[in-house]
Amino acid sequence: MHIPALIEKKRDGAELSKEEIQFIIEGFTHDKVPDYQMSAWAMAVFFRGMTAGETKNLTDAMMNSGRVFKYPKNSPPKIDKHSTGGVGDKVSLVLAPLLALDDVWVPMISGRGLGITGGTLDKLESIPGFNVHLDEKRVMKQLDKIGVVMVGQTADICPADKKLYALRDVTGTVPSQALIVASIMSKKLAENLDRLVLDVKFGSGAFMKTKEQATQLAKAMTEVGSDMGVKMSHLLSPMEEPLGRTVGNALEVAECVEILQGRGPTDLVKLIVDLAEKVSDTSRANLEKRLKDGTAWKKFISLVYAQDGDATVLENLLDEHKAPIVHPLKSKTAGTIKKMDAESIGRASVMLGGGRQQSEDKIDFAVGISGLKKIGEKIDKDEPVMMVHARSKPALQSVLPVLEAAFAV
Ligand code: URA
Repeated sequence: MHIPALIEKKRDGAELSKEEIQFIIEGFTHDKVPDYQMSAWAMAVFFRGMTAGETKNLTDAMMNSGRVFKYPKNSPPKIDKHSTGGVGDKVSLVLAPLLALDDVWVPMISGRGLGITGGTLDKLESIPGFNVHLDEKRVMKQLDKIGVVMVGQTADICPADKKLYALRDVTGTVPSQALIVASIMSKKLAENLDRLVLDVKFGSGAFMKTKEQATQLAKAMTEVGSDMGVKMSHLLSPMEEPLGRTVGNALEVAECVEILQGRGPTDLVKLIVDLAEKVSDTSRANLEKRLKDGTAWKKFISLVYAQDGDATVLENLLDEHKAPIVHPLKSKTAGTIKKMDAESIGRASVMLGGGRQQSEDKIDFAVGISGLKKIGEKIDKDEPVMMVHARSKPALQSVLPVLEAAFAV
């Protein structure tokens, strides 16, 4: 096989065979296909798309570019959730321990913040000591002990995706449905799951701006997963306003602690239970009870301890990470909240230092936004619409115009 011919074949809209896709991915993983050829191929895929069969073969080749989790015989069913990413989306931190209260294993491999969307690993690392880099042996030991683990992608899991994603990020080829499906599903399938629920987001703060795009993406991911023997389910959820009332790493963990202690914002609690219900055998009433009676909270504490985190500070995490400036952004009129734009608020959080503008940037765990009013809520004149947590006055000044424009009363 000859790489230039395979690039031309995709460029001209023909279907690549399983062997041809494997040849490209294997060559790229082992540095035999250079970045310039892989970029040209990715752009051809972007314009020509892929058939369902090609997408499945690409997912398979990317999954097999590295290790796939192997479990001991007779271990419980393995279940997980994947979200396509949103602003204030902290669902995983509550959902993983909640699900692990059943006789299942939750081997959750999560990501870091991407663009304006936050990342579970960054949030977890705001807990002092929390270690997201566990090797497979430790992952298995922890699953056996407490049924849940939350880690990052190691170098030997889907290395093809790691390399390809970095290329796509700088060649305008991220928003290709086939490439997104293969990227996400190869990582989830490397967890060797029995069941997976997808939270596919649409709206201003999501990758997919329309419900139609989200529906198509959900369908394509479901096809690939089902074909590979995973029981798939999904929710389409709006991302016009942030989820919950906080955006920012330690602020979001603190909000999760509230939920795990039976409180927290209703939109977030509802989404967590909706997703849990799709992938769990436990009734909705019982899932809700576990959030109220402290059992999910206890499981979260054992997860934090198991991964070297200091669980004693969880209830006072915001003393640990305190921004020097906490500024109330007030409403100039009384009325009802009409708009609370997720994209602008996500961007403001990144500008404050809560996300990365460049891949090497360090995250500031303390900054972000809290006390967010929700669309439809009443507000008085001079009442805060949100609290802005900033490291410095210039940082605050830089985000205020963005945040002023983000809401409407
Ligand atoms: N998340 C991923 O992991 N990959 C994509 O391509 C898009 C979102």
